[in-house]
Amino acid sequence: MSIKTTITHPFTYNVVLSGKMAVVRQDGKALTTDDVELIRKQDPMAEIIAEEDNDLCVGILGKEYHLPEGYEAIEIRRFFATHEETEVRMMARAKALSSWRSSMRYCPKCGSTLHDHPTLSASECKECGALHFPKIEPCVIVAVRRGEEILLARHVERNQDIYACIAGFVEAGETLEHALRREIREEVGIEVKNIRYFGSQSWPFPYQLMVGFTAEYESGEIKIQQEELTDARWFSIHDLPNHPRPGSISHELIHAMD
Ligand SMILES: [Zn+2]
Repeated sequence: MSIKTTITHPFTYNVVLSGKMAVVRQDGKALTTDDVELIRKQDPMAEIIAEEDNDLCVGILGKEYHLPEGYEAIEIRRFFATHEETEVRMMARAKALSSWRSSMRYCPKCGSTLHDHPTLSASECKECGALHFPKIEPCVIVAVRRGEEILLARHVERNQDIYACIAGFVEAGETLEHALRREIREEVGIEVKNIRYFGSQSWPFPYQLMVGFTAEYESGEIKIQQEELTDARWFSIHDLPNHPRPGSISHELIHAMD
């Protein structure tokens, strides 16, 4: 795969982003490469990433942008909830590439300016020869069940009205299973058994790959880690509190039980 910064022909998948927002057509049709050209003409700071192998063209707008008539910006996570799988995957790829390009301008090994590799979707350092690929940070997310109940928690740094599944980053040297047991133990002080893989989701805010599991309660009383959580409880799956909207694996995990 390789990345180009110019548009040479029409692409099948076309995305325009600014931060966590995606531009869509108000008539509901998918963006075309002509749309990308038209929108980016309004923003002199806009960048282009064109990836041949994915047939994907991405326009990245600055923070301040003006959209032509007929377009609107929606949250990327809303896009995830309302589009089909390939479009969602391309949107996730586009967002991950844009996060990566804005944060990886210099070689972490020697500090020189990075350049696009001619044949790979990667940056290369012409000084030391290092190659740098778009980053992925694995996270585990788990729905813990106890009969007809599910364990949900409110996070300090997230929306305070929302109860979600326990989740956390995988640390270096850990397996996914180890990370999952550690996160649950640290955040709520309980032990689980029968860990089962559920599915995964690219969550490029900025680099997460969410790896979802279900698990069954084994032992312990809930004792929350106060730096991370404001509350954690068992909820009946028939009487759920406010929880993540469709478009996230957290939502799917919670509803996989009912
Ligand atoms: Zn270097």
